Amino acid sequence: MNNFNDSSTNRVLVVDDDALLIGEYVRCLSEDYEPESATSTLSDLEKVLFGEETDERGAAKFEVHSRNQGGAAVEAVAQAIKDGKHFAIVFLDIRMPPGIDGIEAAKQIRLLDQNVNIVLVTGSMSPEPENLGREIPPADKIFFFKKPFHALECRQLAAALCGKWHADRALRKANEDLERHVEERTAALQKLAYFDPVTRLPNQWLLLEELKAIIERSEDSDGDSVAILIDIDRFSFINETMGYDAGTELLRSIGNRLSRKFCDEGKYKRTIVGRFGADEFAVLVPGVDGDAEVTALAEEVRKTVESPFLINGRDLFLKAAIGVAWHPVHGRDEKSVFRCAEAALHRSIRSIDMAVTYYHNEMRYRARHKFDLEAELRAAIENGQIRPHYQPQQSTTTGQVEGVEALARWIRPDGSVVPPSDFVPLSEEMGISDVLFQSVMRSVCADVANWRESIDWAIPVAVNVSAHQLRNRDLVKLIKGILQSEKVDRTLINLELTETVLLEDLTTAQPVLNDLAAYGVGIHIDDFGTGYSSLSYLAQLPVQTLKIDQSFIAKLSDKNADTRVVEAIIALGKAMQLELVAEGVETEQQYGIVRRLGCDLVQGYFVARPMPAHQLLNWTQGFEDTQSLKKKSGVIELDSQRS
Ligand code: C2E
Ligand code: MG
Ligand code: MG
Repeated sequence: MNNFNDSSTNRVLVVDDDALLIGEYVRCLSEDYEPESATSTLSDLEKVLFGEETDERGAAKFEVHSRNQGGAAVEAVAQAIKDGKHFAIVFLDIRMPPGIDGIEAAKQIRLLDQNVNIVLVTGSMSPEPENLGREIPPADKIFFFKKPFHALECRQLAAALCGKWHADRALRKANEDLERHVEERTAALQKLAYFDPVTRLPNQWLLLEELKAIIERSEDSDGDSVAILIDIDRFSFINETMGYDAGTELLRSIGNRLSRKFCDEGKYKRTIVGRFGADEFAVLVPGVDGDAEVTALAEEVRKTVESPFLINGRDLFLKAAIGVAWHPVHGRDEKSVFRCAEAALHRSIRSIDMAVTYYHNEMRYRARHKFDLEAELRAAIENGQIRPHYQPQQSTTTGQVEGVEALARWIRPDGSVVPPSDFVPLSEEMGISDVLFQSVMRSVCADVANWRESIDWAIPVAVNVSAHQLRNRDLVKLIKGILQSEKVDRTLINLELTETVLLEDLTTAQPVLNDLAAYGVGIHIDDFGTGYSSLSYLAQLPVQTLKIDQSFIAKLSDKNADTRVVEAIIALGKAMQLELVAEGVETEQQYGIVRRLGCDLVQGYFVARPMPAHQLLNWTQGFEDTQSLKKKSGVIELDSQRS
């Protein structure tokens, strides 16, 4: 309950040059006022307005102040505001010679106080009430009162207007509270939208805004605005092996350390540190002076991230890839600077020692090239320009082609061919790798069905699958749908996954692989030996085939070929009863070695290059004729032909 009954909150200013009238106001608004008649009506009203807190007779209490001139009244209102003791009502006589009249005083009072109720009191002509509302707005806070008035009338009016003043104030307060609440909620939502919840650092969106602000400020100051992007190497592996909580703690520690190092101390206090992506951070530094300083900064960032982190009681040594670009040299706005820094970062990720990479113009070509490619790729998938080529896999024991690998090619209308290394990662970045996979899968199934129908050839085909597909819980359903609609036997389809893809998120991949295997689709591990060499996972997965990575096969061409790694992989595969394929076999010598070591199948340019579906049929025909001729004439027991 508010304190309406507290006289200090029911402050009334009466202004009249007639001292007698002022006495009358004071009398009728005083606590001791004894109305001669209609007492019950008045106290009923006051009770309604002022609640239980009226005095024992139910009368409201007023604090009455008086002035005898308009100017003095304005001053009194100003002082009251200063003291924080606003008037609820000002009764203003209209004519108060020699000073300003009541109307002028009302205008000046209104300028000072928007909420006070002003009552103009006149004995003669009555001012037009509508005009008053327009001249001294708001219209609901200006009143007209005729004198001489009855004391009871005056008290009744004062009680009603004080009640209104309190109600208005409560409403304003409620509105202000609501506005504050809305502002707080908006700020909280903005925080969610602009800050990463794990590290509490600015996210990618805010980083863009921050770089924009830094660039704008830099227009009138010296120095470059530098964006340094950092990618934590093997972060998903840390997550996988040490647990999600440890991964989260590590991200927080990296963020904290970078902020402490660059935002809290030293020369670059205006630096912004943020989380740019899952395992990527950004450091934005304004006012950097020259190349030497940029280099020193980037090295400082590397040192900061690569000093050991204590996680779960263990020292963790990280490696970071770092890409750097800056305004105004590499881009005129925040987006182009970030794009350049990203291009440099990707170059750094791909480099062997993850050297700090500074953006240069050749990457600009790639960045723009990528941009154009994105739009083209979407259309290419829709228009069926992505086609599988097939590379045969030859048995080292029978000499027969016992399988093929489908390798996607983007064949442009002008006949030029884009390799999968250009568009598969792009499709993943664009989030359309599932669409690409479906398109390749459909083409493969159509080709398999066609071979079956036309020459009754049932050849198993291996299709490459990327990490994104393994996160799709409906992968089995999707494959089932395609196989059924193309009427293809499920045992003819194998999926190839690289070791790194599998290990990236084994917990997600495992159930999907189990479902696929249960359905009857084969699982092959591609590029085996280049991953993180956690062999224990092999035993847990429904795998049939290991494809030995080309890099090991390439080494077999040295004069003193070191065969030990390949030998070990083959021994491991055999022990686990897996089929072994040697990839990238280019020479007769390599072919001979892998065959001697007991590898089951060989794939590589020595046997044949990948080729379109229609060529594969001709090639196979020719290949088999040659094989049988050779066998018949006893020249070479097993050999192969180059396409
Ligand atoms: P991969 O699955 O390991 O395929 C083998 C790659 O080695 C192919 O490159 C093939 O053309 C090449 N190759 C085969 N024999 C030899 C040889 O004797 N010497 C050398 N130097 N290279 C040889 P390609 O076709 O450029 O494919 C590259 C990678 O792109 C593939 O590696 C695979 O990981 C990926 N890829 C291809 N098609 C698809 C697809 O449809 N989906 C997905 N997700 N990835 C695909
Ligand atoms: Mg493959
Ligand atoms: Mg491979």
